[in-house]
Amino acid sequence: MNFDQILKEIQKEIAPLFKEGQVANYIPALANVNPNQFAMSLQLFDGTSHHIGDVDTEFSIQSISKVYTFTLALHLYGKELYKNVGHEPSGNSFNSLIQLEYEHGIPRNPFINAGAIVTTDLLMNTYKDETFAKILSFIQEVCDDEKITYDKEVAFSEKEHGYRNLALINMMKSFDNITNDTHNVIADYFKHCSISMNTKQLCRSMLFLANHGIDPINNKQYLTSSQAKRINSLMLTCGHYDASGDFAFQVGLPGKSGVGGGIVAIVPGVMALSVWSPQLNKKGNSLIGTKALELFTTKTGLSIF
Ligand code: GLU
Repeated sequence: MNFDQILKEIQKEIAPLFKEGQVANYIPALANVNPNQFAMSLQLFDGTSHHIGDVDTEFSIQSISKVYTFTLALHLYGKELYKNVGHEPSGNSFNSLIQLEYEHGIPRNPFINAGAIVTTDLLMNTYKDETFAKILSFIQEVCDDEKITYDKEVAFSEKEHGYRNLALINMMKSFDNITNDTHNVIADYFKHCSISMNTKQLCRSMLFLANHGIDPINNKQYLTSSQAKRINSLMLTCGHYDASGDFAFQVGLPGKSGVGGGIVAIVPGVMALSVWSPQLNKKGNSLIGTKALELFTTKTGLSIF
């Protein structure tokens, strides 16, 4: 398959869509990003990769970080994890409070904000003050790139304006579903959301999920095959908040988005791919990124269905 040609076609076909969405503005530091950017990268098992657009530009990975934290927690705690966080789509927005109250502080899944905050708290039970350092070094390891770090300005901005996330953590604490100090947990949550990566790094880092938990390039095992299956299933059913069904319908791949405009997707047994374009649709997912992935699976036939 001529992937470079396909990426060129996609870049051309998405061009008319610029200016249709809106950059995330509830985190002020993200509102300043130039909206007219686009990058797409594919990482194959044999180590080869294909890229187009602003592929060296780093962006805030935001909720995509929830895949890494959940991977670490699943590795540490296995099925025990599901006592504190579910595995069902929420059908609500990523920062919704309503469901959390009537479901007694147990978030529906690890990919909405409440679920990722609980996951961070669980990691803190093991890693204590080293929690964020551990998350960051895990991301550096799966990406094979020690330069990856977080953006202090974005983390500060999230902290200053994170009223809803503070409400979520306090609600969960009131139901005894948070063990550690809420301020420490939320600070680490904001830091991991503020990690900056480019599309090259992003798809490289998720390749293990396309290969039953084992990185096919260096043979490092991060998860069991069964655990990797669970994460892919959750990405398919819960990876795009209340637009998860729509993403599965349009794209047909497990994926995870973030309000920084990034999306990572998995073609099991073949590749990991990533796309970035900062303008979001009404559900908080990259508008152009979603379209680009839809075009990719339509042109290549590489969806899971
Ligand atoms: N840091 C963001 C928040 O907590 C993540 C949201 C997202 O990417 O969906 O609001």
